[in-house]
Amino acid sequence: MSDCIFCKIAAGGIPAKIAYEDDLVLAFHDIDPKAPTHILIIPKEHIVSAADINAENSAAAAKCLEAAAKLAAELGLADGFRLVSNCGDSAGQSVKHLHFHLLAGRDFMWPPG
Ligand code: AMP
Repeated sequence: MSDCIFCKIAAGGIPAKIAYEDDLVLAFHDIDPKAPTHILIIPKEHIVSAADINAENSAAAAKCLEAAAKLAAELGLADGFRLVSNCGDSAGQSVKHLHFHLLAGRDFMWPPG
């Protein structure tokens, strides 16, 4: 989508600190980190949110989870990490392109606020 900031990052039009990339997925460091490790994992294809995952695009969504596991292993997050996808306005989704926050390096509350 032409006005989507994450589509622009995926297309290389906006710079980002890339952590992982393959044909379907891009992972980059969050510009406003909420934890010592805060990486966003997105499908390159525009999917609005987790509510829009379907039979046609679920391979890209699954690849995001695979990338999260790969990054967690590479970054040595043996103590644990949190993987979050905010879906919709009331959940706090500010960018309407599916993304998974990979957060680590501090303790996390449960349930989240
Ligand atoms: P959410 O609020 O769950 O939609 O998450 C969107 C995330 O995108 C926030 O944590 C922002 O800090 C992050 N973000 C927004 N713009 C950029 C950008 N240009 N580069 C990296 N992260 C960004």
